[in-house]
Amino acid sequence: MNDAVTDPRSATAAFDPTALFKETPMDRPYHLLIDGVLRPGAATFDVINPANAGCFAQCPKADAAMLEEAVAAARRAFPGWAARPIDERAGLVEAVASALEARVGEFAALLTAEQGKPLDQATKEIRGSVHVLRAFAAMRLAPRVLRDTGVNRVTEHRTPLGVVAAITPWNFPMILLVNKVGPALVAGNTMVCKPAPTTPLTTLLFGEICQAILPPGVVNILCDEHDLGPALAAHPDIAKISFTGSTATGKKVLASSADTLKRVTLELGGNDATILLDDVDAVQIAGKVFEGAMRNAGQICVAIKRAYVPDALYDAFCDELARLARAAVVDDGANQGAQIGPVQNKLQFDKVTALIEDSRARGTVIAGGTPLDRPGYFIPPTIVRDIDDAAPLVREEQFGPVLPVLRYSDIDSLIERVNATAYGLGGTVWSSDVDRATGIARRVTSGTVWVNQLMAIDPTIPFRGLKQSGLGTEMGEEGFAEYTQAQVINAVALDAA
Ligand code: NAD
Repeated sequence: MNDAVTDPRSATAAFDPTALFKETPMDRPYHLLIDGVLRPGAATFDVINPANAGCFAQCPKADAAMLEEAVAAARRAFPGWAARPIDERAGLVEAVASALEARVGEFAALLTAEQGKPLDQATKEIRGSVHVLRAFAAMRLAPRVLRDTGVNRVTEHRTPLGVVAAITPWNFPMILLVNKVGPALVAGNTMVCKPAPTTPLTTLLFGEICQAILPPGVVNILCDEHDLGPALAAHPDIAKISFTGSTATGKKVLASSADTLKRVTLELGGNDATILLDDVDAVQIAGKVFEGAMRNAGQICVAIKRAYVPDALYDAFCDELARLARAAVVDDGANQGAQIGPVQNKLQFDKVTALIEDSRARGTVIAGGTPLDRPGYFIPPTIVRDIDDAAPLVREEQFGPVLPVLRYSDIDSLIERVNATAYGLGGTVWSSDVDRATGIARRVTSGTVWVNQLMAIDPTIPFRGLKQSGLGTEMGEEGFAEYTQAQVINAVALDAA
């Protein structure tokens, strides 16, 4: 335990979910976490609430010297942390999960303020983060006996890597963070974590919990304005980069880490297709597809980003999607009843609106299309029909609340069209015949294809992107193993050698 600086908010205090908004959170200081100490930054930068485009807090910004301090602290903490029995490390991760659970409302309110998602979805993300930490606290990798002849015993053991850097994006700042923190710590690594500059605050709040529970240096948290990532990826004392973000940045991370031959896990972008087979009720499935495309304002790596619908169902499906889009409540996520919040930042807002504008000439916008006339980055759910495969909205990852709907008449050419992308993250197939849908799913070149369900992601099930959607695996035993290195011990008795 580290008591050097106390957590300003008691883990057990009753929480009023509206308090964070009432108490002008601008005034609340946030700190970096370096070597067990909550510290101000070398400078600060504005954090914008995407629901009103106004600055609501200052984020401490680390400089290059602080990065060196954080890496050195993580390196110093590593031998002691790795030497603890795994049950002890898991117990501390479990304690972090419980402390987070005690502050769900506070974290959710802050997440809504910085990310924009409706409060109920933010609450789910924080509860999900507690679940993920607990799932990894329960995970173990037993040594494998590869041969045991009586004279020759060959075993494979897993040891931690050292310092792991976690670099995270802005769409799910908390759950994507703990997907890395959980396995890295339980496996015996220490960490330097760096959130995206537009959503840094929940990660810093999480740092307060880590500071109160974990030994100094085990978790360090730095914030930047996109400038420290390359230095982390190139740093000789960092053993692994666990990165979640865009494919373009993932390629840069891979290049920066090459010189030191770091272990790298990259969870990158996607352009997931959803396929309706001809035996479904178009109206019923439209409801599910709408949810899969518009949750978190479409800013999910495995959101449905293209819909392929058989000719016979096409009109009914489009009509129902348009109806749902017009009925959806688009509002500040802090307001009761909001279903779709703003796009998270101005850059993404501009990208999505440009894709919509471009698609007007290539298809028909049947719902949404025009940003709301109010402060903030609000784009209503937008449905585009009769658009061709070559349109940027179909080929690129839109990462926003707009869905192109495409027709098909023949399964073989459909599969070709679905796979004609550099991405290979997820996908969905809908059919009343699970075996038939599974057969189609097997032909889609993606790391995960869901049949008749949306985004069923679970910390005990491996998750990975194929092609340019990623490198390596997160979650499941395979993902856990990526925070370790395997060592083979090949032993014979002295008199048998
Ligand atoms: P991004 O790539 O712009 O940024 C991600 C992180 O990388 C940020 O913390 C950023 O500061 C940092 N970074 C920027 N330049 C860097 C560099 N040169 N070296 C190292 N780090 C650097 O991504 P984003 O816009 O924040 O997130 C959206 C993207 O993330 C989408 O493409 C989405 O599909 C993807 N994503 C993937 C998954 C997955 O599991 N596959 C999950 C969520 C999001």
